Amino acid sequence: SLTAGIVGLPNVGKSTLFNAITKAGAEMANYPFATIEPNVGVVEVPDSRLARIQEIEPADKVVPTTFEFTDIAGIVKGASKGEGLGNKFLENIRQTDAIIEVVRAFEDSEITHVTGKVDPIADIETINTELIIADMEQIDKRYSKIEKAAVNSKDKAAIAEYNVLKKIKPVLEAGKPVRSLQFDEEEKKIVHNLFFLTDKPMLYVANISEGDMADPASSQFYQAISDYAAKDGAEVIGLAAKTEEEISEMDQADKADFLEMAGVSEPGLNKLIRAAYHLLGLRTFFTAGGKETRAWTFKSGMKAPQVAGIIHSDFERGFIRAETISFPDLDKLGSVAAVKAAGKLRSEGKEYLVQDGDIINFRFNV
Ligand code: GDP
Repeated sequence: SLTAGIVGLPNVGKSTLFNAITKAGAEMANYPFATIEPNVGVVEVPDSRLARIQEIEPADKVVPTTFEFTDIAGIVKGASKGEGLGNKFLENIRQTDAIIEVVRAFEDSEITHVTGKVDPIADIETINTELIIADMEQIDKRYSKIEKAAVNSKDKAAIAEYNVLKKIKPVLEAGKPVRSLQFDEEEKKIVHNLFFLTDKPMLYVANISEGDMADPASSQFYQAISDYAAKDGAEVIGLAAKTEEEISEMDQADKADFLEMAGVSEPGLNKLIRAAYHLLGLRTFFTAGGKETRAWTFKSGMKAPQVAGIIHSDFERGFIRAETISFPDLDKLGSVAAVKAAGKLRSEGKEYLVQDGDIINFRFNV
């Protein structure tokens, strides 16, 4: 399954955030924790549509879909030169599908900052520089070999790769991520096989003070990160990690009271989970009308039979059709009967691209 890796300089709140995530996850009854590595946290994907579907089509059980975060041990300046846990760290990032970079955006004289002052942009640049250097090394390893093969022969694959390397090299040298480039489909495959770190989708988490929770944009640090992210093709979420950890330990009633007093509608963690989920190209479909109302994860761009296979391989093998209702139709019309009467129950075939929010009943041969 796909996972988002949490990175950041020491003392910025990574472990605190990861604890908040695992505590929120520990509340989940359905997850087999024993099978999870210590540095992997599983969370439910908060989705209010699930409760609405359950209200319309009550089942014995409601099962949300889940999602994984990986905590990646500290990066320091010089990681690409093998300092600290440098190389191990970069290898761990290579294994993830998206990067969540935690940046300190809170003032607290008692918490030491590695460089002595809170300066989110300097922190971001320290980390991003390490990632860019690692990618440049990745290019250097191949460049002269591929150049030779491309120039001296008619090797089509080598020529295609050489063209991609030539396109990426100057961009990295200018201090920009691979992510900032546009590629066509053929180029994308080549880029993917080179496993660049700066090609991965990225999300910044501004770890703000509790006082800025209701309005992150009121924090000058958050603003600076947000401006930087916009130029970098990345998103930003503002949350107060320490407070999120406390919230994740509260019971439902205390949680609701606390959030109301803080002036927010939901924990920042929920926003982070949804943003990371989208960053990975993950989408949700639902099944209902049986013993359980359930949310499932699929990848954007999957067709109906493949999506059926997520539930069971038999569903994919024997796929006949997908009886589909869009969530907004069910929500608006209030019952399956009303959806049918309005002609909004669709029979979709093998080529159907499943959409986020589809409620599907798969028909299949056994
Ligand atoms: P890591 O090295 O990035 O994993 O950082 P930690 O999660 O261990 O946090 C470093 C210190 O900062 C700890 O003492 C945390 O309690 C504190 N901390 C983390 N997040 C916040 C926050 O949002 N506000 C404040 N005031 N302190 C925080």
